[in-house]
Amino acid sequence: MSALLLQEMKWPEVKDYLAKDDRVIIPVGSTEQHGCWLPMGTDTFTAISLAEDASEKTGVMVTPPNWFGWSPHHMALPGTISIRPEILIELLYDEIESLAKHGFKNFITINGHRIVNLIWMQIAAERAQRKLGVKVVIFDPAYMQKEIADKLGFGAIGHAEESEGSEMMYKYSDLVDISKARDYVLGEAKLYHIDPRDRRDTLCYVPSTEEVTRKIAEISGGSIGHPSQASAEKGKKLYEHLVSRLVEVIEQLKK
Ligand SMILES: [Zn+2]
Repeated sequence: MSALLLQEMKWPEVKDYLAKDDRVIIPVGSTEQHGCWLPMGTDTFTAISLAEDASEKTGVMVTPPNWFGWSPHHMALPGTISIRPEILIELLYDEIESLAKHGFKNFITINGHRIVNLIWMQIAAERAQRKLGVKVVIFDPAYMQKEIADKLGFGAIGHAEESEGSEMMYKYSDLVDISKARDYVLGEAKLYHIDPRDRRDTLCYVPSTEEVTRKIAEISGGSIGHPSQASAEKGKKLYEHLVSRLVEVIEQLKK
């Protein structure tokens, strides 16, 4: 079975689909700098590929991806497009509302942009559930890789690091330039940790200042972590784990 993409379907096909299924997957990412070695679209590519592979396995339809996220902390490097969270909440809500009007009832959003998108996606999902009477789940690859990340030897979640880089090397190798990967690790934070695997994870994104983000971007080149530890082989294992988890989530929402 190939992935079922809304943008490639005709309306009678959507009607036929709705007669047998009410689930739909919405990939959400970002367009932001990902170091010198990964493309701007990394987060969106991650969400798209997971959505499409899960669609192949389940027959569940995928909407066009949301290419933009909230990325004020990556504006120091050129190319990043940051959209205000208020707009992103409204956009995702309107997408869900439109589809709900046609009869879709179960929405699986995939977040490729980690904690910073989660903040507004939770608000949009909660609002849609309350106002539209639909079910909206958020599938977050960073949280869903907790069980496997240590076994693969990945360090803490950073940015454009070995974890998302490995996935990209496996799925989009021609967009990756590992020769430009640079390791850089931030100093130990005393109180705030935003790594899902860290017992001290505070589940809290603490906004940085423009000055600080600019300084870190200049020193690091945009990657935080150990990109040199990335490989397509690890990416395959991580990716297959994520797809199987996503399929489980989708199957749980079956009519
Ligand atoms: Zn990313």
